[in-house]
Amino acid sequence: MKSRYVFPRHTKADLPIAVGGDGPFLIDADGKRYLDACGGAAVSCLGHSDEKLKAAVHEQVDKLAYAHTSFFTTDPSEELAERLAELSPGDLNRVYFVSGGSEAMESALKLARQFHMENGQLERAKIIARWQSYHGNTLGALSAGGNRWRRAQFEPMLSPAMHHVSQCNAYRSQAAGESDEAYTDRLAQELDDTIQNLGSETVAAFVAEPVVGATMGAVPPVAGYFRKMHAVCKKHGVLLILDEVMCGMGRTGTLFACEQEGVAPDMIAIAKGLGAGVQPIGALLVSDRIYDTIETGSGFFQHGHTYLGHPMACAVGNAVLDRLVGDDVLARVAPIGEQLRQALTARFGNHPNVGDIRGRGLFLGLELVADRGTKEPFDPKLGLAGKIKKRAMAEGLMCYPMGGTIDGERGDHVLLAPPFIIEDEHIAMIVDRLETAITASLPQ
Ligand code: PMP
Repeated sequence: MKSRYVFPRHTKADLPIAVGGDGPFLIDADGKRYLDACGGAAVSCLGHSDEKLKAAVHEQVDKLAYAHTSFFTTDPSEELAERLAELSPGDLNRVYFVSGGSEAMESALKLARQFHMENGQLERAKIIARWQSYHGNTLGALSAGGNRWRRAQFEPMLSPAMHHVSQCNAYRSQAAGESDEAYTDRLAQELDDTIQNLGSETVAAFVAEPVVGATMGAVPPVAGYFRKMHAVCKKHGVLLILDEVMCGMGRTGTLFACEQEGVAPDMIAIAKGLGAGVQPIGALLVSDRIYDTIETGSGFFQHGHTYLGHPMACAVGNAVLDRLVGDDVLARVAPIGEQLRQALTARFGNHPNVGDIRGRGLFLGLELVADRGTKEPFDPKLGLAGKIKKRAMAEGLMCYPMGGTIDGERGDHVLLAPPFIIEDEHIAMIVDRLETAITASLPQ
């Protein structure tokens, strides 16, 4: 039977009905338990039954569910802004709350434009992002994103103000024998050239995910890459916007992924883990410099959404910080992530069809290849990623496989982003079930 509320990729019969959660497990209507090794899409960082998160919802709904930001501010939104400003790198001391990642990125792109206009730099409207990146599905964020498959059919509607440079991907694009130094110099030079070719006085911002998520599967930057890219941005008066919607909120072992890169950007977008799946929320962290320019200029960011600073969502955001920082759950991420990585390496390190095992913290990816020597991806027509996902679900494992683009620019990969509360036994389950799913899905 067709489901009335989703578009026809799935029929009701295809999908189990989720009815409950228990720690890192989701439970379906038949009582079957699925180990959530991807947090949905890297969302459920604290699992599915966290008592503090549940209490935050109950307490807040009893007090106040909603108040529009043009009439009121609220305690939960003020508190969450204060705490995020305190915890974020550099002078990111202003916070703009939205309902998710795409809204956070739309806000960033528009704020970059408005900042330059209020500075009298009226021409600065172009955005440079990277291929093989994802910044959301609304038209502005999609235009910035460099996922060719997601862009393809909407291309005529995408913004011509968006331009793209190469990804930073050691496995796929660092030449054999090329040092990290030479590779990152090459990428920084490409950005520099692109800015100059476009006209540096016309470029507003450079946008990147510190660790690439949905498009490529947890691709970390090569050492020194972001410092060099930031230096190029500064040289040309171009803002640096980091999209930490997926890799932020502790996922890589530090609250912000960019802390490990030693850069403090002009804006950071976060979402997913900020609400931990309990509430939809995103936020844009903004530097004092940008805020002050607008405050002394028009005094108004010409943008907005109905649910800005939603008290329920902000209350959960505060509870997430209580858990991550207050209860120190964040400190688990790096060691458990390392444990998971080692378990994956032990199991798949010599696998003929696993080309790369990568990532940071509890944000890990496996790239699947038809041939390890040539790194040749599988034929997209095989639909390998889809098969792995389906088989993993049958095994009681949620993982996030993607792949098979129309132009074959990337291969199939599996993204793992389990909740930060997993224990040893869950690591063993992830590796065993993933192996079964991959083995059963590979072409014979
Ligand atoms: N940016 C990144 C890096 C993402 O991974 C995502 C979601 N996968 C988004 C933006 C868009 O977020 P949302 O789906 O909440 O709009």
